[in-house]
Order: sequence, then C-alpha cells, then structure tokens
Amino acid sequence: LRAALLKAVKTPLSIEGLPQPQLSAGEVLIKVMASGVCHTDLHVMEGDLPPKKLPIVLGHEVVGFIEETGPNTLSLRVGDLVGVYYYYYTCGECEECLRGQESNCSRALRTGIDVDGGYAEYIKAKASHVIPIPNGLKPELAAPLLCSGATAYNAVKDTSARPGDWVAIYGVGGIGHLAIQYAKLMGFNVVAISHSDEKLAIAQQLGADETINAASVKPEEYIKRKIGGVHAAICSSTAKEAYRQAFFSVKRGGTLVAVGSVYGELTIPIIGIVRTRITIKGSGVGSRSELRDALSFSVGRIKPDIQTYPLNAINDIFEKMREGKLLSKAVLIP
Ligand SMILES: [Zn+2]
Ligand SMILES: [Zn+2]
Repeated sequence: LRAALLKAVKTPLSIEGLPQPQLSAGEVLIKVMASGVCHTDLHVMEGDLPPKKLPIVLGHEVVGFIEETGPNTLSLRVGDLVGVYYYYYTCGECEECLRGQESNCSRALRTGIDVDGGYAEYIKAKASHVIPIPNGLKPELAAPLLCSGATAYNAVKDTSARPGDWVAIYGVGGIGHLAIQYAKLMGFNVVAISHSDEKLAIAQQLGADETINAASVKPEEYIKRKIGGVHAAICSSTAKEAYRQAFFSVKRGGTLVAVGSVYGELTIPIIGIVRTRITIKGSGVGSRSELRDALSFSVGRIKPDIQTYPLNAINDIFEKMREGKLLSKAVLIP
C-alpha cells in the first residue's frame, strides 16, 4: 500500500510502499477514500508535537470503506463507510473516561501521532472507535468534519452564547470557516477576523455579519467600539497575537474558547478576569458521542470548502499552510 511517510521530524514526507497491515481481534481494515490535512499534522511534522514512533503515517481525518473485518468486530460490515478520527483508541477505564471525558483519556492513542494515520491507501483501525458516516455525506466532505468540523461545532457550543448574541471568530481556516457556518445555524451574529481579504470574502459568503482585516484594523478595539464587545470569541487562529485580541474582544461575563494550536504564552491581566468574570476554556474534537452529534447536525447543512489533492502533493500543502496561503481545506485522495 502506498503511504506518505514521515521518517524524521522537520523533513519532507516521502511516498513509499508499506506492507498491508495484519488485523487482530477488534480491528478492521479500511480502504481510504479521503484524508483531510489538519494544521496539527504540520505541528507533528515540525516536531512541536513529537510523534510517538518514526517512521509514521500522519493524518487523523480519515474516511473510507471497510475492506476487511477481524474477529470480534460484529457491529461493522465490509462496505460500511466509516471515519477514523483523532482518538484512535481510548481505554474506557481511566478516571477521565469514566467521567465521560474520553478526549482526556490518559491512555489514549492518537491517530497519526501515536499510531499510523490516514495519508495512505489503507488504514487499520479499532472497530470500537470508527465513526459511522451518515448517509448523504461524501467521503471528501465528511473527512474535514472529523476534526476541523467537530472542533468548530464543539467550540461554538462551548461559547454558552445565546441566539442573537455576537460571537467573534478569529481565523478563517479549516476550523474557522466551519465555525462561522455552525454559529450562523445556531442563531448567533458573527464577526470574522483574518489577515487575508480573500479569506474574509469567504467568511462573508458563509454568512459572517461583520468582517475585520486585522492587518489594518485592531479587531478588539473595533469590536468594543462598534458592537460593545462580543459574548464569546473563538480563537481558531494559530497566531499568538490573535489570542490576545480575542480575549480583549470579549465583553463582561463572556467566554474565550481556545481551539487554535499555538505553542506560546498568553499574557493577560488577572484582575481583568476577576472583575469581568470572563471564562477561558479549551475545546476540541471531543468524544465519539460528540462527534456523532456533530456529524448528524452537519448533514445537508454544513459545506466544508475543500480542495482535493493526490497523496504526493502533501509537501506542497504543508508549505502553503506554513505561509498561511492555503485558502481551502486540503483533502488528500490517496
Ligand atoms: Zn486535526
Ligand atoms: Zn481512558
């Protein structure tokens, strides 16, 4: 099987042939139809998020048909369309799992970080952790929903904003452009912030009520002046400065939801949190149950803006992503 392999961090991926994986009990083999490229994959490649093994196949937004089932996989059949997402495995027994927070499982295995992921023609997965793809979702449109979509959906829900409230969405990339759609569907007024006029044009098409180009305007000042602050800000940007601006956009009692992976510190005045009762919380792809909710909510409503590529385009995609020049979400068709 052909796969894009990361052999050492900070080096380009190479397309190579790998032996077909052998199935153990509880495992299925999936023929990959679509594999989304997430910003997290770039962090793994660059070593910010070091992979547990090398070489490794990256990719955790994987959709494909079940090709073969191992023993003890009774719930699945050959030909089922399923997704493999960020959490390849969670134990179901640790304190976090028992509290219903399997995304905090201390024994979790992450797809494309701890075990081989989906930049490949085939992937092996745990039958217990594959996600059925609802009817009506094409593989290339379902793939981005498995991570970017679920993250955007959870982030919008985690704002605790109410219909009619203003929500600021910093960053109009893979997560941001979906968060705009979810926020509009849930009845919020949306202000989208980016450094790119092209991305802001996309945000407007998706229904953003206001757009701000942070290259020419200080978004937090504009938002406080024009709207009086937002009830919630979702930061999907990977720029440190965007986090600071997002925090200062939020009005009293509001919420900052952090989803963009940034390796750095956010400096904010403690008294500003005490007096304003602002909540800062992290969000992400969530549990299998939350992912199922996100997928069923999305069918027929959410349209990921994607561009498809062959497997060997991955290094060019990473290059564009690093420069912030990737306009549409990249999906590999292996
Ligand atoms: Zn991801
Ligand atoms: Zn666990």
